[in-house]
Parts: sequence; structure tokens; C-alpha cells
Amino acid sequence: MTTGPAVRRLSAWDAERLRGLADEYETPLYVVDLERVRENARRLQAAFTDEEISYAVKANTTRAVLDTVRETGLGAECASAGELQRAIDAGFAPEDVRYTAVNPPDRDLDHVVEIAADNDVVVTVDSADTLERVADRGFDGRLCIRVLPGVGAGHHEKVSTGAAPKFGVPYDRVADLAADAVDRGMDLVGLHAHAGSGISAEDMDAHRELVSRMGDLARDVVDDVTDLAFVNVGGGLGVPYREDEPPLDLDSVAEATRAALGDVDAQLGIEPGRYVVADAGVLLATVNTVKETAETTVVGVDAGMTTLIRPAMYNSYHEIRSLAPEAADRKTVPAMVAGPICETADVLGRDRQLPAPERDDVLAVGNAGAYGYEMSSQYNSRPRPAVVAVDGRESSIAVRREELADVTRLEPWSE
Ligand SMILES: *Cc1c(COP(=O)(O)O)cnc(C)c1O
Repeated sequence: MTTGPAVRRLSAWDAERLRGLADEYETPLYVVDLERVRENARRLQAAFTDEEISYAVKANTTRAVLDTVRETGLGAECASAGELQRAIDAGFAPEDVRYTAVNPPDRDLDHVVEIAADNDVVVTVDSADTLERVADRGFDGRLCIRVLPGVGAGHHEKVSTGAAPKFGVPYDRVADLAADAVDRGMDLVGLHAHAGSGISAEDMDAHRELVSRMGDLARDVVDDVTDLAFVNVGGGLGVPYREDEPPLDLDSVAEATRAALGDVDAQLGIEPGRYVVADAGVLLATVNTVKETAETTVVGVDAGMTTLIRPAMYNSYHEIRSLAPEAADRKTVPAMVAGPICETADVLGRDRQLPAPERDDVLAVGNAGAYGYEMSSQYNSRPRPAVVAVDGRESSIAVRREELADVTRLEPWSE
């Protein structure tokens, strides 16, 4: 049972193996390494020894990944009724499953309350309205309140993502809502916050501040309202997307988190998504066009923003590597790697230095295991790619490649 290195860089993937997978399963292709998922889970467990760890499934809900994560013993954090259903279907023990509402549609709440009626899942409400709406549906199970951590004195600018007003119950109204929930006969078991900002090796201040505010609030609720089973401080553990970025020191994050929470008679919980799967996945794409321009070499590939939207949507950096067998012998050129979508934003990487690309080369895009396939779309009537899971020497299809017929499948004429 190895916990593996703190980060798995794109350069550490075996080029020959990846080329073989591209050959066998074609591209664009997501590759997810299940053993790396296990290693990431084990490192979390080794650092957060007494804490409860839930995997935020929205980072990657592929069944192969959910099964693997469940076997490591992590719980599941779900952001929708669909994710909740997937976690239950994948066999997570209901008591290890959480659902966190974000302006939940009626249809979601109907489904969630129905599942919760037979199962011991925790339902986290994000507002007084959501509390009332689950109560109206007869929910009387384990309840948690999501907190909008808000802006305090000496507040760090970065917490502002945690202060995005969309998410959670305003900090100074939480105690009242907690009392209201208890008055309604609900089993209030926890408080929750998720800042959303990446917790990085260099910058722990925002995280510390959020956790310390949660500690204060939990102490108030325990003193004035009811006992709590847990305080969950969310996900957001960062991963290095650039090859020279240092990885997180999980032990010191765990220590800082405990210290910031302070003395609370409740279990500390975290719910990382990205950390569990990001470096367990790469995206493979094939070069179809090489075009010299005055500024750069444009490398056209068969994957784009519909395959991996993070560069277009968040301006995220993903390492790109040529898997061409003789790449090391080629001269390096400045390159832009662009997809087949009719959008200016459809670029996977700008200002890169790549071994002079040639048609039919396979490129690997790193750290594609989190929010990659999960955020893919059919825009431009592009079928979604396939996902292959590798485990040791084995490989098998985790999600089949869509065909053109899948793109029109839901239109009445095509039935
Ligand atoms: C997305 C999300 C997470 C996971 O965030 P990561 O940055 O992937 O770790 C955790 N909790 C909640 C409520 C989320 O919405």
C-alpha cells in the first residue's frame, strides 16, 4: 500500500504506454489511473488521521473512479440529486454520503428527500428557504447547514470566494437557523463551509481564516443550540498544475486546519475533489494540422474546449507534452495548441515550447483527471470522448466514446 509521491507530474507518465492506449482506444481519450487515485486517497488519510474525508464526486463521477474511491474508505460529497444517485448506486454506505444543496431545483429535493427517507445521508441546506423546502417534504433525517463565511475584520481578500453570496447561510444568521431547525425536530448534526479557492502551498491564510471562523461559529452553536457531530471545512486542496510548482504539504495543511478550528467538540471534516483525481488523469489528443504563422506554430488537435473546458473557462494552465517517440531529437518551437471548435477561446495551451509538432503526433495534457471529462459537452455537435481506466497493467473502457447518433439521441425525430 504505497501513498506514492506528493504529486505525479505529466513527465512521469510512460509515453509508450500512453501511445499504446491512444492506438487502441483512439483519441481524444481521457486516461485515468486508478492506482494513482488510491495513492492520493491514502496520502489524505495519512495526513488527516482523525478527520472525516469525503470525496467531492463532481470532480470525476466515472463509476470506475467512484468504486475505487469507495474502496479506499473515503465518503462521498454530492452537489446534486444526480450525483447522490450515482454515489448510492456505486455502493457508498449512505451514512458516508452527503448532499449539499445549491439553490436546489424542486426535482432535486424530491429525489434527495426520497433517498434520505430510506438512507442515513446527510442533507446540507444552503439557505432558510431550502430548510423550509426539505421540511415541507417531510425530511427529518441528519441535517447540516452550509455557512457563507463572510467578511470579518482582518479578513483576507482570498476568502472572498468563500464569501461569494451565492453559497450558504450568512454567517451571523446561522445560529438562528440552527435553532429553527432544532425547533422543527430536525437532527442538526453539522456545519459546513467550502471556500472554493485553491489552498496552495504558499498561501494558507485564507484557509486558516475560514476554518477559524467556522470554529467560532461551531462553539456558539454548541453552547447555545445543540451538540454537533461534525464541522466540515470543504475542499479546495490545491494541486500543482505547472511542472515547477511545489506540491502541498498535506501534514502541515492538516495541522494548520486543526489549529485554526480550535477546541470544538465535533469531528473535523474535509471534502477534497480535485486533490483525489487531478493528477490521476491525462487527456490524449492527436495532431491533425500544423500551421506556421508569424507569431507561433498553431498545433491543431482533435480535443478542444468541449473535451477540456478549464483553459477556456478559467484560463487554467495544463502542461502539454509530445508523446512522439523521437520527440527528444526534434528542435523546440513556440506553439499554440488549439482545438476543433469554432471559438477563439478553444485553445488548450498558449506560448508553449514543444518539440516541432507533426501531423499524427499524440499529445498528452496533464492534470486532466479533475473537472475534465466531467465538464465536457457536445457543443459544435461534437460527441464526447472516451474514458479508459488503467490499473497496473490492465486497461478497460470506463466510459465509451459517443457517436454522432448520441448527439441527436434526445430529439424526437431520431427515435
Ligand atoms: C466543488 C466542491 C468541493 C471540492 O472542491 P475541490 O476544489 O475539487 O477540492 C468540495 N465541497 C463542495 C461543497 C464543493 O462544491
